[in-house]
Amino acid sequence: MRSSTETWETNGERRCRIPGEGIILCQAQIDLDAVAWNTELIRNTSGTAVMAVVKADGFGHGMIPVARTALAHGAAWLGVTSIPEALELREAGITAPTLSWVHHHDEDFGSALRAEVDLSASSVEHLSAIAESAARAGMTAQVHLKIDTGLSRNGASAGHWHELVTKARRLELDGVVRIRGIWSHLVHSSDPRSPSLLRQTHLFDDAVTIARDAGLTPRIRHLANSAAALAASATRYDLVRAGIGLYGVEPIGESFGLRAAMTLYARTVLVKDVPTGTGVSYDHTHVTARQTRLALVPAGYADGIPRAASGRAEVWMAGRRRSIAGLIAMDQFVVDAGDADVALGDEVIIFGPGTRGEPTVLEWADWASTIPHEILTGIGGRVGRRYIGSAAPHTTNKES
Ligand SMILES: *Cc1c(COP(=O)(O)O)cnc(C)c1O
Repeated sequence: MRSSTETWETNGERRCRIPGEGIILCQAQIDLDAVAWNTELIRNTSGTAVMAVVKADGFGHGMIPVARTALAHGAAWLGVTSIPEALELREAGITAPTLSWVHHHDEDFGSALRAEVDLSASSVEHLSAIAESAARAGMTAQVHLKIDTGLSRNGASAGHWHELVTKARRLELDGVVRIRGIWSHLVHSSDPRSPSLLRQTHLFDDAVTIARDAGLTPRIRHLANSAAALAASATRYDLVRAGIGLYGVEPIGESFGLRAAMTLYARTVLVKDVPTGTGVSYDHTHVTARQTRLALVPAGYADGIPRAASGRAEVWMAGRRRSIAGLIAMDQFVVDAGDADVALGDEVIIFGPGTRGEPTVLEWADWASTIPHEILTGIGGRVGRRYIGSAAPHTTNKES
């Protein structure tokens, strides 16, 4: 675990040092005011309580600072994939309602129960294991039952739902579980106008009815992700689960006014002039068509800069966008700076909100034939995180 990361600015340059690890070569600046803005925007646009989905280290932004900011700006719940993530929130002193949703059927749920973490269950096996842990701990587990309404991922199939809710009711009467929520997840997570949405809400409503008929009284029904929270009112129910929108990526092809939270910076480590016909980077997939200046940037696919974007990707450098030349390597890539006046140590913006002309994470996702979620969560552990905004902690390590 990192601690006491030091940051400072020299001549407007962001620098960051982790003791014993030297100066970080590439840095993600996280604007917590953007996270705050996005939380409020999703809350107001949906008119529904918001679960801030902070799994995968807050989509690469740092789970704890993002969670604190979202909670301070209207989020009511936190969502994570796994119990260790939930416990990390608790260790940071965050007591807000938290749901964890992917578990083995034979886990010991005791630590999660003692930390008052709500648990999702998609099968009788999972529910029974949660109930056994609760009985051992002398506690009542708060459970959200998950129904598979079409994604065919987590969630009980319709054919097993009756058995699951019947078992749940029996365990409620035993006092070991309380079914607080019923939930599901959408198939077309970035297309809230897909016809499958109506089919899923119908199946979801049916599942809730069956649960109520079995005697359960779930207070919190939740189905929507960011896209649906913003654009599909029929999916909102009692709570919406916002992930990508929280981080400022517009989840469908229109603007709701979200603000990108992450800007990825680096500084050039070497600049050289090369003649026409110079092959650049591994395998010489790029050969210079003219005499040009090459700038070396110390960030590569180990830092989450996708190699698949080689040949298409651009960065912001010396006042305009410039192409990456040749293959992105593990730790470095080369920018063709033309005849620009690029110097050692010059700032490079790999992606950001786009307000200065720099590429956005959405463009990077397109260049790499993936989605922004994969780019953001892929930003590596070696990349420093620096927090700005009124909620920013003084230190910049991810755990702060
Ligand atoms: C990751 C995740 C979300 C967040 O989805 P976004 O499209 O990023 O808003 C919501 N629900 C579940 C179950 C998830 O796994």
